[in-house]
Amino acid sequence: MKSVLLITTGGTIASRAGGSGLAPTIPPAELLRYLDGLTDRYRITTRELLNLDSSNIQADEWILIARTVYRALDGYDGVVITHGTDTMAYTATMLSFMLQGLQKPVVLTGSQMPIEDPLTDARSNMFTAFAAVECGIPGVSIAFDRKIIAGCRAVKVRTMGFDAFQSVNAGYLGEVFADGMHAAVPLPGLRERLAPVALKDSLCREVFLLKLIPGTDPAILPLLRKMNYRGIVIEAFGAGGMQFVRTTMLDQLKALTEAGVSVVVCSQCLYDTSDLTIYEVGTRLLDCGVISAWDMTTEAVVTKLMWALGQTEDPEEVRRIFRTDYCGEISHADAP
Ligand code: ASP
Repeated sequence: MKSVLLITTGGTIASRAGGSGLAPTIPPAELLRYLDGLTDRYRITTRELLNLDSSNIQADEWILIARTVYRALDGYDGVVITHGTDTMAYTATMLSFMLQGLQKPVVLTGSQMPIEDPLTDARSNMFTAFAAVECGIPGVSIAFDRKIIAGCRAVKVRTMGFDAFQSVNAGYLGEVFADGMHAAVPLPGLRERLAPVALKDSLCREVFLLKLIPGTDPAILPLLRKMNYRGIVIEAFGAGGMQFVRTTMLDQLKALTEAGVSVVVCSQCLYDTSDLTIYEVGTRLLDCGVISAWDMTTEAVVTKLMWALGQTEDPEEVRRIFRTDYCGEISHADAP
């Protein structure tokens, strides 16, 4: 029987309707009462770490979760973390950077409907998460709608549908079929990358995400500089374009990177890669000293930048970190 640590942090799965709407209140022992058969299959230890809607989960909570997992790892075959779905992809990708070389499974899950609702998806998601631990799928992942998605590739794409998460620019790590869990590991190169797990939980909170619109006011960049942001992620158009006719922020952008601010450019498109070398609207960005995010999700870019700036103050080192693939978050490792 596998021994599993179940860490609960809140989310819809543990929510009940109160005066102000759904809010997490159900403690882990009660959660398990709705999961008939789970405790017969696994030796489960529970730990109620937080009780938050995931909209309230931020850097402090990421650090707390990472430290809790790191300290507990030796005693268990794996860890399941219940978490709200709204920011689960951010937590999962941040944990992937903070807990590198993870050989054991750390699986986040939750549900679109509370566990007490007769139509809930909680039961299926929880059993899928525990099955991922049983299979030994290594690293941080999300179990949802019978799929196992690498934490650093997950994006929440639905507010209501049960298939709330997609694996962006990467295949599933596992999938449940009528004959059980099919694990797709080892992923190419994954085993070789696995080293003894290391906790690297320093991060920088001064990171801003700017989504371009046609005609974004360039005055935003000097403001961000004044606010002392050390890192800026720009969600640019298509393969990575930014306007320069009539409204241009290229000069301000150059000033920012020359002042040591790390600027990473990704795409507003969910799928495929950005490539700033294709169009003039992209090459002009490169000339300003920005870093390419290639095919990373926005969630992965934001958390990687926070994490990278927590490891170093040297912008060149941040650039090097972005060229490095730590957990499968980027397909263009070692690209310029
Ligand atoms: N608002 C909830 C949360 O993220 C949504 C959910 O869990 O599905 O905590």
